[in-house]
Amino acid sequence: MRWSLTLGSFKGTAVRIHVTFVLLLAWIGFSAYRSGGWEAARDSLLFITLIFTCVVLHEFGHILTARRFGIVSTEVTLLPIGGVANLAHMPEKPGQELLVAIAGPMVNIVIAFALFVALGAFQPEALTRLDDPHLGLLPRLAAANLFLAVFNMIPAFPMDGGRVLRAALALWLDRAKATRIAASVGQMFAFALGFLGLFGNPLLVFIAIFVYMAAAGEAQMTQASEATRGLVVADAMETRIAAIDWGADLAEAVDILLATSQEEFPVVAGGGRFMGLLGRADIIEALKSEARSAPIAPYVRRSPPTVGATAPLDKTIESFGEAAAIGVLDEDGALVGLLTRQSLAEIVLIANLRPDWRLARRGQG
Ligand SMILES: [Zn+2]
Repeated sequence: MRWSLTLGSFKGTAVRIHVTFVLLLAWIGFSAYRSGGWEAARDSLLFITLIFTCVVLHEFGHILTARRFGIVSTEVTLLPIGGVANLAHMPEKPGQELLVAIAGPMVNIVIAFALFVALGAFQPEALTRLDDPHLGLLPRLAAANLFLAVFNMIPAFPMDGGRVLRAALALWLDRAKATRIAASVGQMFAFALGFLGLFGNPLLVFIAIFVYMAAAGEAQMTQASEATRGLVVADAMETRIAAIDWGADLAEAVDILLATSQEEFPVVAGGGRFMGLLGRADIIEALKSEARSAPIAPYVRRSPPTVGATAPLDKTIESFGEAAAIGVLDEDGALVGLLTRQSLAEIVLIANLRPDWRLARRGQG
């Protein structure tokens, strides 16, 4: 993630903090200083740092469990909203996904339990007075860990509880159906949460909207990846695309922009070598200052994402992310097509209506 600093690394996973998290710390320290002086500032910062240490431990619960199933995570980043581990993907065996998802909240429960034992008592009042310094650091930290575990076990995507529910259902049902049910349960919870929030905490409404949208997004993505299982990238890619020559000038690029409805153009050099992508916005940018005969090459976005034509489509959908388009290459590295959001939407539509349509085509050779 950009704008992050690396703090250190543990077993091959870098721990990074995002700049916005540093700003959060500064803001918390400053407001505590204004209300209670240096001592209050020190206490708040210590408390927040300890909580986020527990958040990192939570993430390592996921990371180290996933590693047992061969899934590597190269970094975990601390954001003001929590920790984010870049797990390459979730395991597909439901039993394994369940273990990976539940390992995070379990870490918080273990920490809370250890603190309760060390303190010799559970102080339930700490749960509602997390910001009250008179209660002492450790009881509040124990309560915060309990809260983290419960909050993360809300059975809605993208919370761990949503994944646990999906994985548990997938032990009996097929994964697409399990995802649909888990997403609906999550959205019902989001409604309930938002409803509660209307009468109490406005923050809950905010969380509810976030949970609702994340549940919908996850369901959509999983269904897309389920529907296209067994297909390869070549089954979905656009092949009737206009490419722009690496040596083209601005006038030629504008002509091609007008002649097609494409938004992204692959730029190719001799022998079909894929040099990069040129978007509509890049051409407009060049138009602001360049002459007709100016080369378009400086505006090409170099080293765009690429994928092999025979790569599995479901995995490619999961890693599509924010890309505008992905270049599809053959074994020799020559461009054979383009995977765009639109081509993905179309293949999902077709695969949902007629699951064997593309598979059958390939079977006939
Ligand atoms: Zn988690």
